[in-house]
Amino acid sequence: MNKFEQLGLNESLLKAILDLGFENPSEVQEKAIPLLLEKDTDMVALAQTGTGKTAAFGFPLIQKIDADNRNTQALVLSPTRELCLQITNELKNYSKYEKGINVVAVYGGASITEQAREIKRGAQIIVATPGRMQDMINRGLVNIKNIDYCILDEADEMLNMGFYEDIVSILSDTPDQKNTWLFSATMPQEVARIAKQFMSDPLEITVGTKNSGSATVSHEFYLVNARDRYEALKRLADANPDIFSVVFCRTKRDTQAIAEKLIEDGYSAAALHGDLSQAQRDGVMKSFRGRQIQMLVATDVAARGIDVDNITHVVNYQLPDEIETYNHRSGRTGRAGKLGTSIVIVTKSEMRKISSIERIIKQKFEEKSIPSGIEICEIQLLHLANKIKDTEVDHEIDNYLPAINNVLEGLSKEELIKKMVSVEFNRFIAYYKKNRDISTQSSGSERRERGDSEPREFNNNGAVRYFVNIGSRDNFDWMSLKDYLKETLDLGRDDVFKVDVKEGFSFFNTDPEHTEKVMEVLNNVQLEGRRINVEISKNDGGGRRDHNGRSGGGRSSGPRREGSFAPRREGSGGGFRSDRNSGSREGGFRSDRNSSAPKREGGFRSSAPRTEGSSERAPRRSENFGDAPRPRRPRRD
Ligand code: ADP
Ligand code: MG
Repeated sequence: MNKFEQLGLNESLLKAILDLGFENPSEVQEKAIPLLLEKDTDMVALAQTGTGKTAAFGFPLIQKIDADNRNTQALVLSPTRELCLQITNELKNYSKYEKGINVVAVYGGASITEQAREIKRGAQIIVATPGRMQDMINRGLVNIKNIDYCILDEADEMLNMGFYEDIVSILSDTPDQKNTWLFSATMPQEVARIAKQFMSDPLEITVGTKNSGSATVSHEFYLVNARDRYEALKRLADANPDIFSVVFCRTKRDTQAIAEKLIEDGYSAAALHGDLSQAQRDGVMKSFRGRQIQMLVATDVAARGIDVDNITHVVNYQLPDEIETYNHRSGRTGRAGKLGTSIVIVTKSEMRKISSIERIIKQKFEEKSIPSGIEICEIQLLHLANKIKDTEVDHEIDNYLPAINNVLEGLSKEELIKKMVSVEFNRFIAYYKKNRDISTQSSGSERRERGDSEPREFNNNGAVRYFVNIGSRDNFDWMSLKDYLKETLDLGRDDVFKVDVKEGFSFFNTDPEHTEKVMEVLNNVQLEGRRINVEISKNDGGGRRDHNGRSGGGRSSGPRREGSFAPRREGSGGGFRSDRNSGSREGGFRSDRNSSAPKREGGFRSSAPRTEGSSERAPRRSENFGDAPRPRRPRRD
């Protein structure tokens, strides 16, 4: 008798399980399934991601549903659209031999009326994201007043995403006598609160140690100047040739821009964020799982629920706004007992966040310096040597050997090795020879002080004051706007000052030497589809009076330079194209020149010129050393 049979599952489920290829139940399944089948009970089950929680509730749920009754009997709440679709798909697989069971996915971004129609046709199980579910309830499109089962899947993630109120409201729309099953990887206070509030005497199951995983992650930070952020990222990637990582950015815009930059610089990267279509996201995730992408650049929301094993590094390209989010980021590595590293690229002004994070994770960061060019070259050289050693020879090559030997005849073994390695290596060393090292050390006191807070001492005489049509309405405060300007303009940490953020517009100063760049670059940037308009303020020199005639907000004000930019492409992609016909593993990437990311030519390349044909071109790592297939050069279409 197979182990699933012993758990009490019926014939049709056992048949489906056979099709799924599951041989033995996982621990959480072994513990949860018999209890849920046997009793009508509430349950709290804690088990790490990837331990098979979906089937742990899915199998008993399918068995308990009355297929002859077409009313809604169960609601599964899950944090994201991806997971919602994934669970729906799993439940459909589990119930494929059980006639008459219908499962409907309810999530944002798709037609709500179509989803309502599907439910009306008779769906016993609804799998929903909390936001859309609440929406449906408000519109009277769904009736969950008589459900028997409510499952809160990935409860910690849902609460972390701010769904507490939606969940409470949805649950209050369900009958008291239902059974609630809560599945979660961790048990933070909010989850405990939900359990206490909405569950009666739940059975508790814990698999592994609570919150485990963190012990296997080490935390490092690298202090850099804001303008060196991107260069630092590249160097960290170069210093870790086998890196398989998620790189977190704060905004969709940055996510897209960084991914595009990486692709242009020859790394196998792609963006994952909410502006991508479902198909694009699926494509990106598929390539990432298949390791055709080494660096997945993602927003926090888009990366929720990513359960990819063997991620070597989590890179905090920018720290999250909420330091609690750091935990979720770093939890993407160090899974299933593997070791992982969580890296933070940090500027002086953010240093105090490091100490706050240390308090939360109860672990210390190690301060490290960005590897020097020489160090990177050494690493790459050894990696290359190892790669040569491990390369399996295809004996087809024997046919060509006489001719090759002919050419190479007369070289000693030493000379041959030197030359062979140099074929790949010269470009790398040339690049790093020409580029300064960027490492910076914290003095220690920065961790306590506020860093480069405004206002700095400066002489108003000579400073140029600008008006710009973005402000708090665009989620900027003075610090984030300053960061944004510094990065967009590729300016140093003290080059932008006196940043004064209003609702629809802001002011800032630079020295006159930067004025040309400010006007040129900033007037050619789009922020979420809107053109940025910058003008020299008439209040030169940093006065705090509002800009004349601008008090109505900057959204539509300022002279427009219609026609001076490429139109924004609708639904632009994430540096990734899921091209079913390409057949080539290299066909997946496209950095669309007209995409929504602001075009900041020169914005990041403080030290890595990459003009084609330039002798100083940045080395294309995947072309030279990387194991991952090389992404196609960005298309200029
Ligand atoms: P969790 O919800 O705990 O993160 P999932 O339910 O998403 O985990 O399962 C993770 C993966 O493990 C899925 O690909 C699933 O198909 C697979 N899986 C689940 N149970 C088993 C099993 N008993 N045997 C083999 N694979 C399983
Ligand atoms: Mg799950």
